[in-house]
Amino acid sequence: MKIIVLGTGYVGLVHAAACSEYGHDVYACDNDVKKIKAFSTGQPEQIEKFVNEPGLCNIIRETIDRYLFFTSDLESILEGTDAVFMCLPTPPNLDGSTNLTFYDAAAETMAELFAKRKDRRRVVFINKSTVPIGTARHLQDIMNKHRVENFGVASNPEFLAEGTAVVQARRPDRVVVGCDHEEDFNILRRVYSQFVHHVRIKYIETSPETAEAIKYVANTMLLTYISFWNGVGAKIGEKFPNIMIDDLRLGVTADDRISTWGSFVSNGAGGSCFGKDIASLINQLRRVNVSTKMLEASYEVNEFQKVYLIERAATEVDFQFNNKTIAVLGLAFKKHTNDMRDASSIKVIESLLGKGAARIRAYDPLANDTAREVFDPKKNILFEKIDYFDNAKEAIEGSDALFISTDWEEFRGVSRTIEELVKPPFLVMDGRRMIPDYEDLIAKNYTYLAVGSMAMGPMER
Ligand code: NAD
Repeated sequence: MKIIVLGTGYVGLVHAAACSEYGHDVYACDNDVKKIKAFSTGQPEQIEKFVNEPGLCNIIRETIDRYLFFTSDLESILEGTDAVFMCLPTPPNLDGSTNLTFYDAAAETMAELFAKRKDRRRVVFINKSTVPIGTARHLQDIMNKHRVENFGVASNPEFLAEGTAVVQARRPDRVVVGCDHEEDFNILRRVYSQFVHHVRIKYIETSPETAEAIKYVANTMLLTYISFWNGVGAKIGEKFPNIMIDDLRLGVTADDRISTWGSFVSNGAGGSCFGKDIASLINQLRRVNVSTKMLEASYEVNEFQKVYLIERAATEVDFQFNNKTIAVLGLAFKKHTNDMRDASSIKVIESLLGKGAARIRAYDPLANDTAREVFDPKKNILFEKIDYFDNAKEAIEGSDALFISTDWEEFRGVSRTIEELVKPPFLVMDGRRMIPDYEDLIAKNYTYLAVGSMAMGPMER
């Protein structure tokens, strides 16, 4: 099959690499020339500046210039194409609705070019971007407007989770394909031939609208479940004496009907999708006069949770942030990625600076460079107060308190560093419950404040 992947962000690059691994001729196309230049080198250090996913560079190294080709010149690669995957950004508008500007611009360009192609073979335009219910139909209208011939439209939403995207691309839990015509289903079956009759992977064929809805319902369900644990489970642990939140989680999730995933309480879920997808679904449902109270609550609990630990530090242990130096460990929205889109750390650092922190000593194993862009002092002069370090030790040294915001495994050993480098009084705010031996810290007079537990250790600062 000849496949074009339009947009080589996280989704596009992983999808292009995965398809090339199965012997398709994949043309990965992006209008960001810098990205294409970097990816064309096949060099991990160039690729990972833009997309850092475990295992991704290995695939690219093996398939580049054999099955995988990078280009910015869409016009030159059209002929003979069977499938075009649209992997474009769909950011939120201020009212939560989905901004289709990038998507529409790409669709219009593609329609103009495909209308002129010489070859008239069947081509399917497939939405892999997360787009509102009805967007495949909208894409069809754009193609018809430009008089593109012999085409179909499809929805094939992406369910990858950053950090494990390659593993999931090789063995997804499901592949959802929404088409109108059997010939389009057939093209997609050939693209995904390794999954169609797989014993464990659900290959689901449905209407384009249902496929679009599956993506939104799945993502809002995941965020709602996370918010349930943060809004209910964590609060029980924080407000009632003698509650062991980890035992509470184990006891509840022992029921096969209740997922372990999402039950680990935290300072909120970030990432490029949860927030914008729930906001978009709220917007879509409001338009058809459906009450969205439950979804609004999920969203609000998650946003509130990102900074709640900082509020608790002020109210429960009387910690004053003014003029203090705070170490922040973990900037990426989750471990194994350098992506900081909607990361909890952004709200954490903004809140700390807003409360008068003198300096922030930040460290992330992968995301320091991303953070330098996110916290560009040109956007906010307060960001000049952030210093970046190459390891946790350097970040902690000389600080008055510590906030752990990402679940990088290396932070599990941080109590020893604290004991070596800083003397009590010292406050540890653990947004991911990463410190197994917190009792040792308390015994040595450090103050420990973790999401899901009451404050422990000395309370007066
Ligand atoms: P991204 O912003 O990382 O990448 C999008 C890419 O599209 C960029 O490289 C951009 O340069 C390119 N682009 C924009 N306009 C273009 C055009 N006209 N022609 C060619 N390229 C163009 O986005 P992403 O994270 O890969 O997400 C893409 C879509 O997939 C979104 O709808 C998102 O909601 C959805 N999604 C993302 C994830 C995730 O974890 N990142 C998971 C599932 C679904």
